[in-house]
Order: sequence, then C-alpha cells, then structure tokens
Amino acid sequence: AMGYFNGKFIHSSDLVLPIEERGHQFGDGVYEFIRVYKGRPFMMNQHMERFFKSADAIRLNIGKTAEDIIAIVEDLIERSGETNCDVYMQATRGIAPRNHLFPNVEASISMTVKPFKLISDDIRAVGATVKLLPDERWQHCWIKSLNLLPNILAKQEAFEAGALEAVLVRDGFITEGSSSNFFIVKNGEILTAPATTHILHGITRMAVKEIALDLGINLKEQKFTPHELLAADEAFLSSTGLEILPVTKVDGQKIGNGRPGMVTVTLYEEFLKRV
Ligand code: PMP
Repeated sequence: AMGYFNGKFIHSSDLVLPIEERGHQFGDGVYEFIRVYKGRPFMMNQHMERFFKSADAIRLNIGKTAEDIIAIVEDLIERSGETNCDVYMQATRGIAPRNHLFPNVEASISMTVKPFKLISDDIRAVGATVKLLPDERWQHCWIKSLNLLPNILAKQEAFEAGALEAVLVRDGFITEGSSSNFFIVKNGEILTAPATTHILHGITRMAVKEIALDLGINLKEQKFTPHELLAADEAFLSSTGLEILPVTKVDGQKIGNGRPGMVTVTLYEEFLKRV
C-alpha cells in the first residue's frame, strides 16, 4: 500500500521512523480514519475539523492547514490508483530524544491508503454480536488520541468471546463501542449517548443524526443503560469502517426479534445514497 511521511510519498512498509519518534514511544499524537468512496473522501471537512480539534486538545501544532492536508490526501489517493479506499493519518509531536517534556520540533505527519473491505453481506444480514465490557478509558475520549490500549484490550476480549465489537459501560451507562458509536431504537425513536467528553464524536454518528433528521425519525442524545439496551427493539453501531451496522445480539441475548431492525436498515439504505 502507499503511504506518506513528512513530505515524502512512500510504500507503507518502508522503514521511515527513527526509534525516537514520539508517536512510537509515547503515543503522543492524534489520528483520523477517512473512507474514500469512488475517489471522494466522505465528510472530509468534518474529519479535518476533528483532527485539528484533537491536536489542539493535546497542544500539538500540526504545522499545516486543513487545505494542505487535503491536498496531500488527494495526491496520495491519486498516486495509489485506488478509488474505494481508507486513508489513515496521524500527527505526532515529532522526532526528538526521548523525554516526557514537549520537544521543540515539527510535528510528524504520516498517512497510509488501502483499498477497503466492506463488512460481509452475511454479517450485515444477520446482524453483529457485541459484548458489554467496562469502559476503562480516560476522561477525554472525545480526543482521537493514538493511545488505544483500553480500546484494543476490550475489542480483543470481545473477539475472543465471539463478538464483533465491545460495547463499553461507564458508571452504569453505555458510552460507545471500542471503535464505533452505539445506538438503540425503542418505539421508533433512536437513542445514543450524548456527545460529552466520554465518547468520540463520530463522523458517522453525525451522518446518522443528519439522516434521521431528514427522514423524520426522532433521535435523542440521551444516555441509556445495558438494561434499556436489552429491552430495545433494535440496536446498531456506526463508524467509518462499519458504516451503519445492525446489532442483533448482546452477550448471547437477542435484541428485539433477533434480526436487523427496520429503522436501522432504512438508515443504512439512506447512508448508501450519500456516500
Ligand atoms: N468511537 C471510537 C472510540 C472510535 O475509535 C471510532 C472510530 N474512529 C468511532 C467512535 C467512530 O467514529 P467515526 O464515525 O468518525 O469513524
């Protein structure tokens, strides 16, 4: 796959990072993951806004404008020859001798582009299984930080239990998935955790809100418990990679009638029209 590192276009397997790079040593950086449909990055401006917000939140100066970044992404996509692909980008506090204090160096910016694989039709038709796990992350989950250890551990534990995603619970309420936002549907109304500091403000979540509004489906940003999830009519996940994915089983228990729900399917059909 193709990549980019600090001004150079490379192959993503090239060795380009010095050992003393702060993303590598400290996870001292932020990232974005953007899906490109038919050559066009989906909701790019929203991704850029979040990227710069995350960087500001950790006091990282990216040293480029959103327009600069978009130009690099477009160049990278063109060089890759891909049209349906994912772009991963990260900005870190740069290359400097290891020291917790901020160095006075430029940010490192790296990217990769890879063709995407859609979730299989089988999983989409049956709906995903998720596992509830404690949300052991920090207080700033809205920052798209490189530090993903609690997310990784939760996702792996869910996978080993036969689930596709871990759905996290903090103080008795569902926050989000380990790498996705989470929704339930009850009596025709969609519920999702409010966009506080305890969840990532997903771009696909934003798309779901827009679609619901356009279709006249009520969506409430309101916290809910695992108990409410188990009593819901439908549930679904949203993320750049999963798009909008029905959830039909939680810890071995069926949601609703155990099949993807009408609201979820309708939202997804509308989503596909927009990408
Ligand atoms: N929550 C978390 C913790 C995530 O890692 C992601 C995926 N980046 C999401 C939600 C979904 O965000 P988006 O729709 O922007 O991909």
